[in-house]
Amino acid sequence: MSRSIKNIIEPQYVIEGADVLLRRSFGPQRSNLYDPFLLFDHFAFNDPVEGPIKGFPMHPHRGIETVTYILEGSVNHRDSLGNAGLIGPGDVQWMTSGRGILHEEMPRRGPSGVIAGFQLWVNLPAALKMSKPRYQEVSAAAIPSAKRDGATIRVVAGEVDGVRGPVTEIAASPVYLDVTLEAGAEFVYPVPHDDEVLAYVFEGNGQFGAEAQVVSAVSMVVFDEGDQIEVSTASGLRFMLMAGAPFREPIAPYGPFVMNTNEEIQRALYELRNGTFIKEG
Ligand code: FE
Repeated sequence: MSRSIKNIIEPQYVIEGADVLLRRSFGPQRSNLYDPFLLFDHFAFNDPVEGPIKGFPMHPHRGIETVTYILEGSVNHRDSLGNAGLIGPGDVQWMTSGRGILHEEMPRRGPSGVIAGFQLWVNLPAALKMSKPRYQEVSAAAIPSAKRDGATIRVVAGEVDGVRGPVTEIAASPVYLDVTLEAGAEFVYPVPHDDEVLAYVFEGNGQFGAEAQVVSAVSMVVFDEGDQIEVSTASGLRFMLMAGAPFREPIAPYGPFVMNTNEEIQRALYELRNGTFIKEG
């Protein structure tokens, strides 16, 4: 059965970090509507009159995995594990906070004055929330593409037509694809029946779902259950596709922490105050 659209989210502008303007499709909430996905932010600094970009100074995370995917511009980062570097166009940084990490993320404009990219938060199951933190960085050249008639699919995580993404060992085993369709192309992709499946449309427009509903950039499509998704376009389209199996566990979100209970949030705050939050690095 081909999936219908359950609903379409219009991303809202929010300010995070030090005055960073983002388009947020959703953030962590107790209702956990997009389990295993917790947050999807679109960085889009398109206006040079915004002035210098301050970014996200040192901050903690616990209980989640974050995926940063850059389209244009770059993000300079460093963390409490000793990692530091610059991720640029087409690069991916996948960070497993586990029991605790501190990091800094500072976006920089590209040559055209623009920064564009996405940050996705994926939940960790209760059994792994206090696991060892780790970090995977994948350069643009290491991300393979699957080619179909009129379609180019960069495979960050998961598999398309036998092409496997380099980001692995993520607790939720998600699929994360950057799909570009030329005018007249279609994209049909099988998904597990009960997985959460989302598509973030950021360029052009197309027809989504069994009812071929028209969706234009910028929009987050939430699919109903089913065994495959169908997308087509008359004029060209680009979207990020996310799919993952829900953990179906209660969550307690608080700022940069997502745990299962309020007691675990209290413990994280207590450890931050008394200097025992970071266990390694
Ligand atoms: Fe962060």
